[in-house]
Amino acid sequence: MKNSRRCPKCGSAEVIRCKTAVNGAYDKLQAGVFRMVQTDRWVCCSCGYCELWADPEHMKELKEFWGAPEEP
Ligand SMILES: [Zn+2]
Repeated sequence: MKNSRRCPKCGSAEVIRCKTAVNGAYDKLQAGVFRMVQTDRWVCCSCGYCELWADPEHMKELKEFWGAPEEP
């Protein structure tokens, strides 16, 4: 939805972007012992579907902290 501005579930173009709550850690990603990365939630106002996107500026820190996923 971030890139298409259209909901992949219902096709609506009524899509909004919501910032993570300032004090809430719920939507943040850990990128170090004391480091959290902000995420944005994209919400379809027609059906309620949500997408969560990490800030692209912090991909290096996230990759270093989490490493590559294990083989399936
Ligand atoms: Zn939708």
